[in-house]
Amino acid sequence: MARIIILGSAAAVSDAEHDNTHFILEGDSAPILVDCGSNPLGKIHKLGISDDSLQDMILTHFHPDHVSGVPNMLMHMWLLGRKAPLRIYGLNHCVNRVEDMMMFFAWDTWPNFFPVTFHRVLERNNAPILENDDFRIVGYLTKHFIPTMGLRIENKRNGKVLAYTCDTEPIPPLLELAKDADLLIHEAAGKGYGHSSAAQAGELATEANAKSLYLIHYQVWNTDPKPLVEEAKTTYNGPVHLCEDFDEYEF
Ligand SMILES: [Zn+2]
Repeated sequence: MARIIILGSAAAVSDAEHDNTHFILEGDSAPILVDCGSNPLGKIHKLGISDDSLQDMILTHFHPDHVSGVPNMLMHMWLLGRKAPLRIYGLNHCVNRVEDMMMFFAWDTWPNFFPVTFHRVLERNNAPILENDDFRIVGYLTKHFIPTMGLRIENKRNGKVLAYTCDTEPIPPLLELAKDADLLIHEAAGKGYGHSSAAQAGELATEANAKSLYLIHYQVWNTDPKPLVEEAKTTYNGPVHLCEDFDEYEF
């Protein structure tokens, strides 16, 4: 059984209980980290996942709440004496900037640094990102402020599908991203340019025939997010959950 472990559930403004949205995919082989708004190694350690086993990281787009933990995580890994490689996947726009960000930290002067490689994902829908023994992961372009990709993740062992919209306002290609997904994890930052409301998340879940809907990347600052579940239920009849940090879902 594969599972997703939520490491953060908040939109760009986090609080003490809700880190920025990022998560781990865990199958029988190695874990995969999706986004890195803060250094996740403390949480990963607490979950009993070895940081050496983490060798694949997908970055959805270059906004601070999705990538600003990368330099600190890499330094942390280096100071632990890591030798294992790390592969970073993302669109050109994101990967180029992550490389530049690391150059600002002069990482080329950090001695005995472990191997880090960058893998540029094609800027198109259904673009292959990575495949291992557990998962086949493809990217879809979303409508956000900068080039951004959502993910369709297939569990190769049982055929189940987890779809993650990432940050986006509703656009037709999301139907393919989310089609018949067993779990649709949809952002719910609020209706407006580049984002979606919980009701819009429900609309996609209905149109795409998703089996369940999980709301993530929602507002938490001086706001109670719980009513988002009822809002999504106005447009979707299936089960709706509000993702919380450290939740785990099997698929
Ligand atoms: Zn964003």
